[in-house]
Amino acid sequence: MLVGIDLGTTNSAVALWKDGVPQLVPNALGRELTPSAVSLAKGGQSWVGEAAVDRMATHPADTVTSFKRMMGTASTVTLAGTTLTPEDLSAMVLRSLADDVEAATGERPTEAVITVPAYFNERQRRATRRAGEIAGLEVKRLINEPTAAALAFGLADKGDREPFLVFDLGGGTFDVSIVEMFDGIVEVRASAGDNRLGGDDFDAVLARMVEPQLLGHAALEGVSVTRRDALMKLAAERTRRALSTSEKAEFVLTIDGKSAGTMVTTEAFEEAAAGLVRKLRDPVIRALRDCHIDVKSLSDIVLVGGATRMPVVRKALTRMFGRFPNSTVHPDHAVALGAAIQAGLLSGGEGLEEIRITDVAPFTLGVNTATRDAHGVFHDDIFAPIIERNTPVPVSRMERFFTLGDNQRQVTFAIYQGEARDVKKNVKLGELTVPVPPRPAGEVQVDVRFTYDTSGLLDVDVAVPATGLTRNMVIVDEDDRRSQKDIAESRKRLEKLKVHPREEADNVAMLARAERAYEGFTGHVRDVIGHALTQFQGALETQDPRLIADARDALGQLLDEIDAQSPL
Ligand code: ADP
Ligand code: MG
Repeated sequence: MLVGIDLGTTNSAVALWKDGVPQLVPNALGRELTPSAVSLAKGGQSWVGEAAVDRMATHPADTVTSFKRMMGTASTVTLAGTTLTPEDLSAMVLRSLADDVEAATGERPTEAVITVPAYFNERQRRATRRAGEIAGLEVKRLINEPTAAALAFGLADKGDREPFLVFDLGGGTFDVSIVEMFDGIVEVRASAGDNRLGGDDFDAVLARMVEPQLLGHAALEGVSVTRRDALMKLAAERTRRALSTSEKAEFVLTIDGKSAGTMVTTEAFEEAAAGLVRKLRDPVIRALRDCHIDVKSLSDIVLVGGATRMPVVRKALTRMFGRFPNSTVHPDHAVALGAAIQAGLLSGGEGLEEIRITDVAPFTLGVNTATRDAHGVFHDDIFAPIIERNTPVPVSRMERFFTLGDNQRQVTFAIYQGEARDVKKNVKLGELTVPVPPRPAGEVQVDVRFTYDTSGLLDVDVAVPATGLTRNMVIVDEDDRRSQKDIAESRKRLEKLKVHPREEADNVAMLARAERAYEGFTGHVRDVIGHALTQFQGALETQDPRLIADARDALGQLLDEIDAQSPL
């Protein structure tokens, strides 16, 4: 079975193409979004999703979120003594989504379409592929998130239209695409973005803003920095959401029964966030400029991503575009639904015959070169673009190069992605060396062909016509050469973890919620929670599903009542 997955920085979702429509598959808690969060305990217990987020407050050092930001880097995290790569962590989320599909349909998915930010580079895309493989999913295609959102939007709103703009601001990434639809072709005209900008950054701004008021507070005395930061982040996110619907909200930290709080107004927050809001403009301008479309010809502004719910973002958009954005597609679901449409297209789903998608390369790809200036001075490390950004894909382009030295025996091409003239400012993807026959400078020709496929992965062909030598390579990245071994090792590492059976997800979430509540209070309320917690644990030990469900409901009700009395 082929599924469509939105593997987000903050939240992930899975959807299927079924009965001629894309359908989201709820997780064990009945929710369509699964937080991209992982938590581990000594002994290899592991939690993914909501339960992991709940453990963030109590076990911040053993819990991780936003690891999508580390994709494609060599960073690792160590949780409760186990070291995991960003691919491993993503694989755990993917596996949990696959479990949910299996629970809903009785069939284990084996293949997936996974979405990535359009601005994800080659390394990040390859890392995403590896995550899929570690999770036991064959990744049939990677599809750009805004393209997926555009597909969902286009399908909901059949018919031809003028170019529209998809504005996706999630937890950690920002993507802009300009899309056009005609005769069943969904054409991405341009995309741009910033893969280091999202709701997380707004949380950081808010946390920094209130820090001076909270730092000296007695409730924070003796609390470790890790724990304090984790609580600050959770509180910032909660407060920021509250500010989406009201003019002011209290920023509260609750630690071991003591709390520290301060009032935040929308106005102060918006002022603090002005710098971030300004950063939203650049990618929009770049995308419009690259496809020669002016703001006035856009028929719609489509909002995707949870962070577009912030009024400060909506206001900025209204100012930027001189009109109100469209919100006919659900901002949280569009990407996963689009991935399911792509899955439907790949498996020949009925009703989809007439749709085709064309996408663009989101960044320029090329090699390093050297030249001599008019005075004979040698300049090297100059970027020679081969495929320019926003060229429609799939695409194949060839450039011809000549030797620079007399009797040169080999030519080395370093392959880069980026826009800067100085290659050192771009991202190096790999290197390729070919032998050439010794001849006077400029007499040996080397042809370099770049082919960029629909998943945004690069293939390089090099030919030396003088000797008939040809070389083909998919980027010889160190990461890649190791990849097959890595995947096997990662699988083994993850197999050792004890994953909670999916059926237990709501029990685990309830336990974590109750434990967190217990830590948040003192005195009588704490005793009441402790008592209810013991009852629930007793019920769990009986292994009787009915007793467990009753105890869980009772505990949930109690916690709801306690929450309802909160000062917020
Ligand atoms: P991603 O695609 O990165 O996984 P999402 O599209 O799920 O992210 O968006 C997550 C972000 O949206 C988080 O930063 C979250 O705080 C923010 N968000 C969700 N709902 C709201 C809201 N009502 N007000 C403000 N921000 C919100
Ligand atoms: Mg997203």
